[in-house]
Amino acid sequence: MTDEALDLSRLQPALPSPLQPAEDERFARHGVTLLLKRDDLIHPDLPGNKWRKLAPNLRAAAGRTVLTFGGAYSNHLRATAAAGRLLGFPTVGVVRGDELAGRPLNPSLARCAADGMRLHFVDRPTYRAKASPDVLDGLLSLFGECVVIPEGGSNALAAQGCTELGRELRGRTGTVAVACGTGGTLAGLAAGLGAGQRALGVPVLRGGFLGATVEDLQREAFGAPAGRWSLDERFHFGGYARTTPELHAFADDFEDRHGLAVERLYVAKLLYGLTVLAGEGAFAPGSTVTAVVTGRPEPEPS
Ligand SMILES: *Cc1c(COP(=O)(O)O)cnc(C)c1O
Repeated sequence: MTDEALDLSRLQPALPSPLQPAEDERFARHGVTLLLKRDDLIHPDLPGNKWRKLAPNLRAAAGRTVLTFGGAYSNHLRATAAAGRLLGFPTVGVVRGDELAGRPLNPSLARCAADGMRLHFVDRPTYRAKASPDVLDGLLSLFGECVVIPEGGSNALAAQGCTELGRELRGRTGTVAVACGTGGTLAGLAAGLGAGQRALGVPVLRGGFLGATVEDLQREAFGAPAGRWSLDERFHFGGYARTTPELHAFADDFEDRHGLAVERLYVAKLLYGLTVLAGEGAFAPGSTVTAVVTGRPEPEPS
């Protein structure tokens, strides 16, 4: 591994990402301006928060093998595999679900494998215990010395990487809203915003545990809670990767209104939640709300 291979500028991220107005009468009616922070445009293979979270972790890994975790459709696994291909470091993906082993790979995992990621399938109890010393030792004895990045890429370095998202929005908007999975993006975003601004997280998982996770991440990353943030837990639509016809209809309509391809597992739930909140009068007249567009829809498998 040469030093050159560690130069993340070789990935040529488009930063800062564009901030675009979206004229929408459901917001305008309440005197609220909606802006879209187009993090989905940062990189074709490492879109959105995945770039922001991985960049500091890859710098720290310095070309060593990266081992990380995800479900069968994980955006984080795909982004890690793509970074490995583009920068020339080895990657291992530990995938939830041993029933997937030996079967044809879905398009998401096929892309990981094509990018050179070694895939290792584990059963659900093992996956749940993935942070335990036993399971980690087992993995490291299989794959040798690796830098381990947690599920979804959310650790202290990732949260630190996401502060830049907040800094790019300083002075531009009152509320900045983001869809949350593992919470690393919200933790960093809130820390990076300026005085008078606040972050709003919309969890796409059920469970009500995310607030504690975000606090823990902030303590690890910044030594203390940082910035103003809150969660609205009403918009998970049944949980991770669950959608409803109503959500799809909302997203189709948003695409027609704004010419934005709306990713359905995170971004659609965020935009739906913000539209409901605007209707409830949650945002002061004259204020500006920014939705972070963290990803884009996958192209249909051909
Ligand atoms: C991973 C992901 C998120 C969630 O980010 P966390 O830091 O895990 O909360 C949001 N949107 C998209 C499109 C993602 O791929």
